[in-house]
Amino acid sequence: MKEIVYLDNNATTRVAPEVFEAMRPYLTEAYGNPSSAHTFGREMRRSVERAREQVAELLSAADASEIVFTSCGSESDNWAIRGVLEERPDKRHLVTTRVEHEAVRNLCEKLEKNGYEVTWLDVDKEGLLNLEDLRAALRPGTAVVSVMLANNETGVLFPIEEIGKIVREHSEAVFHVDGVQAVGKIPIDLRNTHVDLFALSGHKFHAPKGVGALYIRSGVKLAPYLIGGGQERGRRAGTESLPYIVALGAASELARNFDGHTNIRNLRDHLEDTILATIPNTRLNGTSDRERRLPNTTNISFEHIEGESILARLDEAGICVSTGSACNAESHVSSAVLRAMNVPYTLAQGSIRFSLGRYNIESEINHMLARLPGIISQLVEMSPDIKR
Ligand code: PLP
Repeated sequence: MKEIVYLDNNATTRVAPEVFEAMRPYLTEAYGNPSSAHTFGREMRRSVERAREQVAELLSAADASEIVFTSCGSESDNWAIRGVLEERPDKRHLVTTRVEHEAVRNLCEKLEKNGYEVTWLDVDKEGLLNLEDLRAALRPGTAVVSVMLANNETGVLFPIEEIGKIVREHSEAVFHVDGVQAVGKIPIDLRNTHVDLFALSGHKFHAPKGVGALYIRSGVKLAPYLIGGGQERGRRAGTESLPYIVALGAASELARNFDGHTNIRNLRDHLEDTILATIPNTRLNGTSDRERRLPNTTNISFEHIEGESILARLDEAGICVSTGSACNAESHVSSAVLRAMNVPYTLAQGSIRFSLGRYNIESEINHMLARLPGIISQLVEMSPDIKR
């Protein structure tokens, strides 16, 4: 494959060589079923439990039994919300935000159509929540509060410690956090929060696609989603996907020992500062307070230009970025996240998300910064929206 500069790590990440090496035997000779009673099966069971411990350590969970393996982040999110609703048929109110990933947003919209009541919390123009709105939304009939930790498009972080406290003090709701974009990028300490459920996805932090997990705090009741055999202590049926579970464990350990976060942050800051300072009519989407954003993400709008055109030109230059997950070129509907932040249409349509990862190096960022101004000025020349 041709050399690329990969700045799309919020979409997915490369499988780390260490992770691949860890899972390799489980794709070949270590093929036993962890539920089998023979020695070979019991060895496989130990590998599953080791991986569970590795994931629990990454999240600082109190106990490894709080981790259940799933197939992806979307499954974890769907299970969390539906599982709570099934357990609490008398409570028919949910609270979530307008900037959730589709895995939560589309599910809540569907539930709303099916008779549940959903309170959609607004964000301000920086993408931040007003916690007073949350407090006011809680009521005795609230079954679940579902809030993301890190926004996939802007990297804006929500204060889950504070949110958890409010949920506990003012309701009996279960608190679910979509942590998919945060794991591997910032430290997570679930033991010291009021988070009841927490979703993660392996492919966002160097495990393969097709594996995720749901943290279920001890004592929280959650109806199973997949019914069948007694795997995962009866919480999720289906023969364990051993190679992928081992990979998720290895990726968790790799993430826990990663010491390159400052480097990623510095590269991101350099990219962001240079674009905003040198290219006219650009604007940052998401809070300018970098402590309240993921260290790897920057989302920048280029006014009066189509994000798709920028993406295509960068693609020709071998640089991978994203326009934000919900941009629709045909209908010209801009991303729901940017709309919720009241970003004007002329800016929202020209938004680009740059998301860095552990394998990015300075020369790649410099390559990007060398190519971008030329691409933007060409597109500005062609833009029908700009009156000259
Ligand atoms: N939640 C967030 C915040 C995400 O960014 C994503 C994926 O982009 C998901 C959930 C869904 O994860 P998966 O692709 O593993 O289903």
